[in-house]
Amino acid sequence: MKTLISGGRLVTEIDSYNADILIEDGRIARIGAGLTPPDGALVTDASGKLVLPGVIDSHVHVSLEQGGHVSSDFRSTTRAAAFGGVTSILTYATPRKGQLLSEAVEERKVQAEGNCYIDFGLHAALVNWDDRQDDEIVEMIEAGVPSFKAYTVYSSSGLRSTEEQLYGALLAAGQHGGLIEVHCENEWIIERNIRHLAEKGRLSPADHAASRPSYVEGEAVGAVLRAAYDAGAPVYIVHVSTAEAVEVIDDALELGLEVYAETCPHFLLLDERKLEGSDGQRYATCPPLRDQEHQGGLWDGLDDGLIQVIATDHCEFTAADKDEDASDFRRIPMGLPGVGTLLPLMWHFGVSGGHMKERDLVDRLCTQPAEIFGLYPRKGNLAVGSDADIVIFDPELPVTITPEILHGHSDYSPYDGLEVTGWPVSTMVRGNWIVKDRELVGSHELGSFIRREHVCQKPGRRET
Ligand SMILES: [Zn+2]
Repeated sequence: MKTLISGGRLVTEIDSYNADILIEDGRIARIGAGLTPPDGALVTDASGKLVLPGVIDSHVHVSLEQGGHVSSDFRSTTRAAAFGGVTSILTYATPRKGQLLSEAVEERKVQAEGNCYIDFGLHAALVNWDDRQDDEIVEMIEAGVPSFKAYTVYSSSGLRSTEEQLYGALLAAGQHGGLIEVHCENEWIIERNIRHLAEKGRLSPADHAASRPSYVEGEAVGAVLRAAYDAGAPVYIVHVSTAEAVEVIDDALELGLEVYAETCPHFLLLDERKLEGSDGQRYATCPPLRDQEHQGGLWDGLDDGLIQVIATDHCEFTAADKDEDASDFRRIPMGLPGVGTLLPLMWHFGVSGGHMKERDLVDRLCTQPAEIFGLYPRKGNLAVGSDADIVIFDPELPVTITPEILHGHSDYSPYDGLEVTGWPVSTMVRGNWIVKDRELVGSHELGSFIRREHVCQKPGRRET
């Protein structure tokens, strides 16, 4: 099948220019001005629109169970993703107690195959710590899952790693070409704060944020970076939410540590005042929303290249799930929907808001996640030979955000009612239109597992 996307303005991580793209057999076959459509080619007119590489959301939770509530499944998550211009997600394979990483990965693939509109890759969560861990890390790297998630919190759900375990994992991953991603918060301070707040009956969504002050993140990031430095291993810090963490990362980069960092739209755009409203629970997530000073620190971190990736930490529950135990934050399922709003929010507030250039948007949403997580050059760019994962974006389209237009699982969005200008109109995965002119036209059987051979290819700070 051949498709020609004509008349659009292509935006890459380096530049932008007017050109047509010819797609053959799922890949980009030619890029150039005034291409003649070959016989039988379907032509899509992208005049007045931007043509971007498909977005890679490298931090997405699917079917995550919390307190009896289950977040959005593969089908609804990838549908919302496709409407939002996301063509690949990376999600987690988290083993149950006693389960091997390889078993958890296979189980997750079975769950996903046939239920994904877009492609998916997996991060393996390091949670069952025993003496097989190092061998399992090597086995997973060979199986196309070279990135690993570790947590410094959540002992009660069995997710937390000790310093010793994390250090061992960093050594093993560093030696064998894997990448450890760490959720950094200091659990002991959080537990102490929760105990004290509970004694005073303070269990509102705003109190949840009070239990996890910014120091909790900055301290944990510092400890993890010191361990990675000593282990000689690259490390990736997920969902950075504070200015402190950005400063610590800056220092580590100065020392020569290979550290990558991610932040999320909700930390850039929403602040802690949201938690004080009657629907504060719908904004409850970990780490919590911060004040505006931290937002400034995160935007600066992005601008300086200290934060290379914007991903969503998508974890989509319904309003009823979030509201059920709103008066006790210990029982609120944590997490926010986000996969469908990543690109339009970062366009509207990031690019149009003067925080970032167009090419930096593509860099932070497409190219850097592809490079860091080993999808590049197959994905994350517009180049001959790459997968035809492409988004047509209308920069002038005014849209009021509602759950209906996001086509996800939830009946609420943290951005409900927000008016933005610019929205993805068509999304292609490997040459197949999944969304065309804002209508779902693709199949949930199209998406397939992305086997990754390596991580951290062509990484590093890019001058902007
Ligand atoms: Zn997460």
